[in-house]
Amino acid sequence: MEKLSSPKKTIEIIQKYNFDFQKKFGQNFLIDSHVLQKIIDAAHITKDDFVLEIGPGIGTMTQYLSEHAREVMAVEIDHNLIPILKETLAGYDNVEVLNEDILKVDIGKIAEEKNQGRPIKVVANLPYYITTPIIMGLFEKNVPMDSLTVMVQKEVAQRMQAVPGTKDYGALSLAVQFYAEPYIVANVPPNCFMPRPKVGSAVIRLTRYKDMPIKVKNEKLMFSIIRASFNQRRKTLQNGINNSSALHFSKEQVVEALGEMELSPTIRGEALSLEQFARLSDLLEG
Ligand code: SAM
Repeated sequence: MEKLSSPKKTIEIIQKYNFDFQKKFGQNFLIDSHVLQKIIDAAHITKDDFVLEIGPGIGTMTQYLSEHAREVMAVEIDHNLIPILKETLAGYDNVEVLNEDILKVDIGKIAEEKNQGRPIKVVANLPYYITTPIIMGLFEKNVPMDSLTVMVQKEVAQRMQAVPGTKDYGALSLAVQFYAEPYIVANVPPNCFMPRPKVGSAVIRLTRYKDMPIKVKNEKLMFSIIRASFNQRRKTLQNGINNSSALHFSKEQVVEALGEMELSPTIRGEALSLEQFARLSDLLEG
């Protein structure tokens, strides 16, 4: 099958199958071969790799992945795309398409069965309405994974890569950076997609840490503290923690812990690094 990565070829397929784009599934298909090549290069895929693609659409990126990887599994929720994928991926015999909701798939089991539990690579032009649950689900469920190379909304990519003290820094930056090292590969304008999204996009690679650099006694507690600190951005960290219904520390406990870290009692959450949040969590846990 001829490569799909041109507007002409994409329109041809869409018309042939009378396909209706579903907004609710975040369907914006890539129609730019340079961007596709950039994603493939950034993902460092080799013939040893098992690649999971989330949301193949009509199979544009899947064709590229198939040529570079040992094996590809593409999980697509929209059953109307399945007959299209049958045609566009005919002849790409290292690809399997699964008609499922990615949020309901046991990816750990797939890695076990298809890659003997060795780390997989995840590559996707993600449906933007579920970017965070997909990414955090992969990390939190400890799916064996080398890296995630994904297209996301530009602002979301910036938040994932943000450092303390910047306007984009927040709970998402800390959650992602606890598990992985982020690197924004490229910004991608709306005209590279069909239909054009309203927002700018970016490709980001998240390289999963083999040894997590930040150790914390109680991860759950640390993330509750992080969420509480950024819930009320203009308030102090201490206020955020004391106003949270998920946490039960007194004002004195928080001020004492901050003092032990040589931090001001009026410091704001956005000034703290991940390492400092981990230390604060350990001190409060006692
Ligand atoms: N990979 C294609 C491309 O780059 O042209 C399509 C990308 S499009 C932004 C997102 C794709 O994810 C769509 O095909 C959509 O149907 C699919 N999708 C949306 N929600 C999904 C879910 N929960 N599980 C699996 N696929 C999903």
